[in-house]
Amino acid sequence: MNKVVTTRFAPSPTGYSHLGNLRTALFNALLARAANGEFLLRSEDTDRDRSAEKYLDALCDDLRWLGLDWDLGPGREDDGGGRGPFRQSERQDIYQVYFDKLGEQRLAYPCFCSREELEKSRKKQQRANRAPRYAGTCRELDKKEIDKRLLDGQRPTLRYRIADEGVVDFNDLAKGPQEFELSDIGDFIIRRSDGTPAFLFSNALDDSLMGVTHVLRGEDHLANTPRQIVLLRSLGLDVPEYGHLSLIVGDDGKPFSKRHGAGSLKDLRAMGYLPLALNNHLFRLGHASDRGELMTLAEMTGHFDCVHLGRAPARHDPIQLDHWQKLTVMKLSDEEVKGWLGADANGVYLDGMVPADKEEDFISLVRDNLQRPVEGVGWAKILFRDEAMAGEMITVGLSNVDPDFFDIAVRLWGKGHDSFRDFSNQLGEKIPQKGKKLFMPLRLALTGELHGPELEKIARLMGKDRVERRLREAAERC
Ligand code: GLU
Repeated sequence: MNKVVTTRFAPSPTGYSHLGNLRTALFNALLARAANGEFLLRSEDTDRDRSAEKYLDALCDDLRWLGLDWDLGPGREDDGGGRGPFRQSERQDIYQVYFDKLGEQRLAYPCFCSREELEKSRKKQQRANRAPRYAGTCRELDKKEIDKRLLDGQRPTLRYRIADEGVVDFNDLAKGPQEFELSDIGDFIIRRSDGTPAFLFSNALDDSLMGVTHVLRGEDHLANTPRQIVLLRSLGLDVPEYGHLSLIVGDDGKPFSKRHGAGSLKDLRAMGYLPLALNNHLFRLGHASDRGELMTLAEMTGHFDCVHLGRAPARHDPIQLDHWQKLTVMKLSDEEVKGWLGADANGVYLDGMVPADKEEDFISLVRDNLQRPVEGVGWAKILFRDEAMAGEMITVGLSNVDPDFFDIAVRLWGKGHDSFRDFSNQLGEKIPQKGKKLFMPLRLALTGELHGPELEKIARLMGKDRVERRLREAAERC
């Protein structure tokens, strides 16, 4: 019988989630959903000093917000038929069983080498142009020597004894066939000197014990995979299939970091980015898609396929994210736009700047033109407050405009018009001027901006009197 496809997201709760680990979460969730399988969340909190519950809480909140709910894991009642607990800090007894098994098979041994000794050995190998690996210093210590050192109070790590010869190969779900020489690997640490399990060990063991069938993770873990496969095989445990996702880079081709803009979900949420926009952006980071339109998570599930995972670095372009954000905002309902603009507890948004009779038009202007709530604040001020105009910029912008332009405009506006278009058509004939030379001065005069929503909408929202005041102000500046 085929096993249920089981994927997992296994973050270390040592910081806030960012685009990189959320892409991993999304791809694993989609892979499980596409196969009607299970998606589980495991907290890799073995580093007690750096892990914090607040980061796990924030992470869970981010996953839910993105719609990436997990079937098993922290915060879920079901323990998956004894596959929990899903926090590694609560699995020490389980790890001990397997440390003992490896010890009995002589596949693990205590290593007393100090950090300095290891560093020295590493440098020596590098000088000799050899890839650094553990030199095997403690590999053959006899029992008497081990006991003596333990009695001295030394605290060893536990190392996995890898075979001297052979190869380990696997078919990477993203990168294709991989082959590693065991002789290049070296004995690796599976338990730290403080007794906590090392990443390579607990991560691989938990995947197998929790029934994980597919692991999608960042390519920085590719070199760990042969060690983990060897370890699981020697314990007679099932080995999942692995797929390593290409690195996310910024527009300069360097690994994506803060320098390239906001990357933590905390910051992106605070800026007003919406879950659908982020999911659509993440979906295309390293996963080819011929679908140019905004997709729901359900649609993404139907289109996700490991054969589309790329090998080249995935470029994070903030302009792409803004593109998905624009399409997402356009789909919001009136109520959603208001919530997005940051309504307070009484449902008042933007400090009550928007008059009730203008609300509908304002919301439609926001929905069709803006990508961030903060822009909504700016436009509400421009449209409904008089003090908002950036005078200097308007003066500079209008410096080449014919001095008569606005005198004529004020007079014409005073006569009343059915629409702004009607007014601007007549103005264009009178001056005479058309295109940019006609509309740019008008836009600057009314809004103080060079770009923005249609002037028709702007004029309607501002109302006749404010438009007139702004045209007069512009006339004075010319
Ligand atoms: N805790 C590891 C990390 O956050 C998990 C790596 C993996 O997915 O196997 O990098």
